[in-house]
Amino acid sequence: MKATQFFISTLKEAPADAEVVSHQLMMRAGMIKRLGAGIYNYMPMGLRVIRKVERIIREEMERAGAVELLMPVVQPAELWQETGRFEKMGPELMRVKDRHDRDYIIQPTSEEVVTDIARQELRSYKQLPKNFYHIQTKFRDERRPRFGVMRGREFTMKDAYSFDRDEAGATKSYESMFAAYKRIFDRFGLAYRAVAADTGAIGGDLSHEFQVIADTGEDAIVYCPTSDYAANIELAEGVALLPARAAAANALVRTPTPGKSTCADVAQFLGLPLTQTVKSLVLATDELDDKGDIAKSTIWLLLLRGDHDMNEVKAGKVEGLRGGFRFATVSEIEDHFGTKPGYLGPIGLKKPVKIVADRTVALMSDWVCGGNEADVHITGVNWGRDLPEPDAVADLRNVVEGDPSPDGKGVLAIQRGIEVGHVFYLGTKYSKAMNATFLDETGKPKLMEMGCYGIGVTRILGAAIEQNHDGRGIIWPVSIAPFEAVLCPIGYDRSEEVKTAADQLYAELKAAGVDVLLDDRGERPGAMFADWELVGVPQRVVISDRGLKEGLLEVQGRRDAEAAKIATTDVVASVL
Ligand code: ATP
Ligand code: MG
Ligand code: MG
Ligand code: MG
Repeated sequence: MKATQFFISTLKEAPADAEVVSHQLMMRAGMIKRLGAGIYNYMPMGLRVIRKVERIIREEMERAGAVELLMPVVQPAELWQETGRFEKMGPELMRVKDRHDRDYIIQPTSEEVVTDIARQELRSYKQLPKNFYHIQTKFRDERRPRFGVMRGREFTMKDAYSFDRDEAGATKSYESMFAAYKRIFDRFGLAYRAVAADTGAIGGDLSHEFQVIADTGEDAIVYCPTSDYAANIELAEGVALLPARAAAANALVRTPTPGKSTCADVAQFLGLPLTQTVKSLVLATDELDDKGDIAKSTIWLLLLRGDHDMNEVKAGKVEGLRGGFRFATVSEIEDHFGTKPGYLGPIGLKKPVKIVADRTVALMSDWVCGGNEADVHITGVNWGRDLPEPDAVADLRNVVEGDPSPDGKGVLAIQRGIEVGHVFYLGTKYSKAMNATFLDETGKPKLMEMGCYGIGVTRILGAAIEQNHDGRGIIWPVSIAPFEAVLCPIGYDRSEEVKTAADQLYAELKAAGVDVLLDDRGERPGAMFADWELVGVPQRVVISDRGLKEGLLEVQGRRDAEAAKIATTDVVASVL
């Protein structure tokens, strides 16, 4: 590629709304251009990186036996009504109407469509296992789009979906995807951790997030430096709460007046680590006994952050709920429970909670547990209006550095991460809702066992930059750099020798398979170097009259303090 043919547009200053370094640098390097909140043009320089990310993903998906297809961005609501997600998903789901007033959605993910394909196409056990994937535009109407491509509203995701005959097969598919993800993130050249993640509404224990380590990450991960233990902190805290949840459920059925548990009951059994950000608490369950009371240990605990109209909570319109110390929307909970919102029972907090220690909070009297009759539990909720606004997620942490690792093999450390990938065993959640069956060896219909596997293609760019930059700009890992090397001839427009040497080296590098750019703009060296340091090209070769006289060119890696003088004839080998 030659610079004059390509499109280069660098900026000295980042726009004021770019809060994190990756967003600033991507804007300055001309990789993206904002079109609206969370919506970006991917400019030529940025698109080259995206294509390289996609290529690596495709290669590893194919290696793992996944097959590529492409599912539509705009999807008929009917499929989403089958699983109930059309109604239950919160405002993140973009719903649109066509000219006939028919409902559609812009896909945030594709479980419904892929399951619809599977139930029509995969009829016999002989066709299983199958793993379909695509790399497609997603839309999620994020409450707070920010950090450029890291939390966009329109973004690109690779999503894969596996279909298996049974749980054992699905576990194998999951493991194969897990291994593929490791190869992918290794090839990206990023420092990451695969951490156990909350399976939330689906349950089971097969879910891992791939987290790129970065201080600006929105997630926190806990790991044990002396063992393999690593988890999203949400899970670490959720796990700590599991026994408490079970006990709480029992406690609630045992209260003399069902639905009227006191604060003491709740606090004692939950061992609540509430903080000032929590203004209310909601208990929900999918299993009610014949009297309509909470029956089993599947109780969920939602901590409400901020003031919310309970009618909105009921309608699934509120985000920023935490359930069992993970973020959970009411719609997510409902999605799992498959029940009407009426089963969500809030506990009204009549007085602000008081902080007694940095980690635990006294919850004193004035709690009233919601009953299970429709609407009873959404009345009389009194919010602590004087409380500070909910802010950092960290406020709710109750796992801290130095806590013992759950595997007993050391103590926990905490670091921040960016979720770039997520693998998830779904079981029969979608196949059941959509009746996706196949005929087994005995000719009987059986539900397919599913898994889903996402990678945030565009988010990778932000994550890679958060991890690899310096004061001058981006430092791309070579595998995903927009160009692997840039040739910077000094005086390309004036010196015949320089031009000839640069053109020749360019041809040789291209022939050797190097993705090289020749900067033929005739820019002054300072401006030219600043551009390529900002863009983050891993290798730079400077061709000058002075060097040529000595038969030398200057080769400098983006992280090197100084250039190495290399004989003209050895340059190709040194760049390779
Ligand atoms: P997050 O917790 O950051 O909101 P998620 O858990 O909602 O992400 P998944 O549903 O697991 O996301 O989607 C798979 C992948 O898609 C994520 O691991 C992430 O890399 C990417 N992704 C999700 N939301 C966004 C977004 N708003 N912008 C860019 N990438 C995203
Ligand atoms: Mg999300
Ligand atoms: Mg997440
Ligand atoms: Mg996720």
